[in-house]
Amino acid sequence: MTEPLILVLDEGTTSTRAMLFTPAGELRGTAQRELTQHYSRPGWVEHDAGEIWDKTVACAREMVERAGGAGRIAAIGVTNQRETVVAWDRATGEPLARALVWQDRRTAAFCEELRAAGHEDAVRETTGLLLDPYFSATKMRWLLDNEPAVAEAARAGRLAFGTIESWLVFRLTDGAAHVSDAGNASRTLLLPLTGATWDSGLCDLFGVPPAALPEVVDSAGQFGTTALFGAWIPICGLAGDQQAATIGQGCLAPGETKATYGTGAFVLANKGSDAPRSRNRLLGTVLHQLGGRRCYALEGSVFVAGSLIQWLRDSLQMIVRADESEELARSVEDNAGVVVVPALSGLGAPHWRAEARGAITGLSFAATRAHVVRAALEAISHQTQNLADAFAADGAEWTELRIDGGMSANDWLAQDIADITALPVVRPDFVETTALGAAMLAAVGAGLHGSLEQACAAMIGGTRRFEPAMANDLRKARLAAWEKALAAV
Ligand code: ADP
Repeated sequence: MTEPLILVLDEGTTSTRAMLFTPAGELRGTAQRELTQHYSRPGWVEHDAGEIWDKTVACAREMVERAGGAGRIAAIGVTNQRETVVAWDRATGEPLARALVWQDRRTAAFCEELRAAGHEDAVRETTGLLLDPYFSATKMRWLLDNEPAVAEAARAGRLAFGTIESWLVFRLTDGAAHVSDAGNASRTLLLPLTGATWDSGLCDLFGVPPAALPEVVDSAGQFGTTALFGAWIPICGLAGDQQAATIGQGCLAPGETKATYGTGAFVLANKGSDAPRSRNRLLGTVLHQLGGRRCYALEGSVFVAGSLIQWLRDSLQMIVRADESEELARSVEDNAGVVVVPALSGLGAPHWRAEARGAITGLSFAATRAHVVRAALEAISHQTQNLADAFAADGAEWTELRIDGGMSANDWLAQDIADITALPVVRPDFVETTALGAAMLAAVGAGLHGSLEQACAAMIGGTRRFEPAMANDLRKARLAAWEKALAAV
């Protein structure tokens, strides 16, 4: 008997991918296409939803062929860049405007207006989020106010809004399903953390017509079927990328925490069935919803992580390749007093200081390129430690940290994070945790595994551990130097 396969559609910010997994978590193939980024004005970031769809289908077709036909595929799982908004016409399935990407800051003034009017505390209490352009609702409002086709479709009752998973499921099912999983929905500012569906008061506040929104559904189940690839394939798993990575890291029990170090760094801690209310400017979010029951997470995002290494490479030309940072860090005994504060685009959690800018402090004639590069990597550990303190203050103390993302390949950094947080750091051998998490949800939705715990046992492989080994006085000195440099930016 041939084994069933799971097709994962991994919709990133810079690329779209399709990947094939077995129910044992083995990767059988990957197809990838880059996505065009449209930066039409400073602070604006747009995607063409039609391009996302076309490239998704192209990647998926490659993988269906690799599988030996659609009949071999038991389920589709989707994972996606979160918060990005697509507006389309329900009748034609055509996009009505460019998609506004999560990074897009055009609604900053609207957010400020709402904050000045005193809405932030109530919004935070209900949704777990902050009034920031990052989240979807103000982007929906902008589209209604500024794109005549969107406003016209709303008047005619034909407007559909959704995040990327919602858009793809609509197209995959030929318009039969307009859904969003609770995890993605919890990033819009329109879903109460503890409410089953959209909140009419929040829809009013942001000026978003509830009729345009998708139905809020579980993260695993049967969300529709697609006939696009020659045989019917059910869509069985949906999750935003950070939620999927948390699941793919096996953080299924309260307290289990992962950090993804890519362009930025995203830390999520499982909070079980308690809706988290941060007092330290972390976010409360839905990790997954199964059988209508929610599991929550506390989240902290750092804007600059791997992008700091890219900046050292491309703008300062201190290194030629990102992985050269490891060799350089190892080539010196310490940082020679150099501290890098990577506030190149402000500071995210737990500081939320949009106006802060980066700094390199402690320079002397003893400082070399290697010291600056080492200090840049050390900054990633220090930012992680600041998040660890905020999580602990919110009652979500870490006992170990599971890491992934492009930067986690750096062994020196992994050890430094363990040293500075004084916690074991665990890195999976298979680092594509986002896609794996989506495959796990799809496997559960399709009944290939009975529960996420069973999927975890069957699909997650080996790990490497980094134990903390730094002398305490050295650690204290590093933390003190960081706090001093941070206070000065
Ligand atoms: P994203 O998914 O956000 O595009 P990735 O997870 O692919 O990012 O990670 C890429 C980032 O990791 C880049 O910013 C790069 O500078 C950084 N990076 C990759 N390899 C290393 C390394 N060995 N050491 C330090 N940084 C690295």
